[in-house]
Amino acid sequence: MSEVPHDLIRRIQISTRNVAGLSGYDPGDPPRPALPCPPLPCPPLPSLSATIASLEPSPPYLRCSHCKRRLLRGLQSFICVYCGNPHQNDVPPDPIFFNSTIGYQWLLQSLQLDGSV
Ligand SMILES: [Zn+2]
Repeated sequence: MSEVPHDLIRRIQISTRNVAGLSGYDPGDPPRPALPCPPLPCPPLPSLSATIASLEPSPPYLRCSHCKRRLLRGLQSFICVYCGNPHQNDVPPDPIFFNSTIGYQWLLQSLQLDGSV
């Protein structure tokens, strides 16, 4: 088993504290005063959806109404890929004409039809 490089670890600790602007630590130092108990209250954190919304550059109408993340296909999205909720769009998507699909051509071939009436 290799030996633990204590000296290297100690030098990294010192340089990290110096870069962070913290005072040096010496195990021989007197103990520091205890932190207030209970600890100081943290400021209220924003909600997750508000945080995500602030990081998302797309306009609100191109975001999921549930989780506020970007809809990958914009207004044409059926569902949000992040939360799985359906995209509530007032405008229904354009219909797909089955007669113009590859599936329709395969169906005709399998039935040995040419598509004429
Ligand atoms: Zn979503």
